[in-house]
Amino acid sequence: PTLANQIAAGEVIERPASVVKELMENAIDASSTRIEVFVEEAGLKSIQVIDNGDGIASNEVLSAFERHATSKLLNDEELFRIRTLGFRGEALPSIASVSKLTIETAEDGQAGKRLVLNGGKVIENQTASSRKGTLIKVEDLFFNTPARLKYVKTLKTELSHISDTVSRLALAHPEISFKLVSDGTPVIKTVGNKDQIQAIAGIYGVETAKKMKDIQHSSFDFEVSGFVSLPELTRASNNYITLIVNGRYIKNYALNRAIVDGYGSSLMVGRYPLAVVNVRMDPLLLDVNVHPTKQQIRISNEKDLGELIKEAIAKRLSKETR
Ligand code: ADP
Ligand code: MG
Repeated sequence: PTLANQIAAGEVIERPASVVKELMENAIDASSTRIEVFVEEAGLKSIQVIDNGDGIASNEVLSAFERHATSKLLNDEELFRIRTLGFRGEALPSIASVSKLTIETAEDGQAGKRLVLNGGKVIENQTASSRKGTLIKVEDLFFNTPARLKYVKTLKTELSHISDTVSRLALAHPEISFKLVSDGTPVIKTVGNKDQIQAIAGIYGVETAKKMKDIQHSSFDFEVSGFVSLPELTRASNNYITLIVNGRYIKNYALNRAIVDGYGSSLMVGRYPLAVVNVRMDPLLLDVNVHPTKQQIRISNEKDLGELIKEAIAKRLSKETR
């Protein structure tokens, strides 16, 4: 089983940020209102995710580290969830198989459980504090898969992937308070109220957030909302464009393009806006048949949605310059 888990890990745990993503998504799934992420050496030394969510029943913690195919019948919304929020029942066993992992978890008012695994083998299993929620610490990632370790880039690159992961999830979940601390230094902190501009402030800074403009537009099929920067406030990379569909962060090349197109000729070549664009739509219009870890989602009527987004931005910008 350990080997199978390592193979599965190879498919989805590419780098420290993949661990951060899977652990954070579990914390989100568990109805946490506060999620804290601590990393050392860009996650290669350690990654710790602490949440105040539902916790895992102490008699179920062990089985969370065994791979299981889901027996559930999936509806479209769930399929979408799987394709965007990772995969089902494989994250914990995969991560545990390529690291030294400690978990402390407790349900509300119940005795807690603490497990320690080394390369996927349980080496400690005891009762623990009953603080509601879950703490998972992942140390020495890829210590037993040197080939994988070779693909890891510089600490700076790996940290930027982590920070990116936390940012996107924080933008998609403004109602949750997130914190990212790297080698003792706070990097991201969001307050966790429904207001998305507050999450933007926690990630890109208060001053930047103040300069962003709200957009709002809808058609029969789509509802578009969000915040965009004016052409004066741009970045040299398109990494500050975030697309959130039905509450999930997704990647979609054509729609990113539509956001940029909304600026028309007002953007200088090689410059990109900061933008957080939310789309609400019928999940049946989503094509989930795309690689699970890539977060690429195809949308039927994608062209219409692109036009709508472009229009929403163009309309808002013209209001500013008038
Ligand atoms: P999946 O999320 O696809 O079900 P995972 O391997 O990521 O699979 O997690 C296994 C299970 O462990 C989850 O289904 C959930 O029941 C439990 N779990 C994992 N992390 C947490 C958490 N932070 N809080 C509560 N339960 C968790
Ligand atoms: Mg999961």
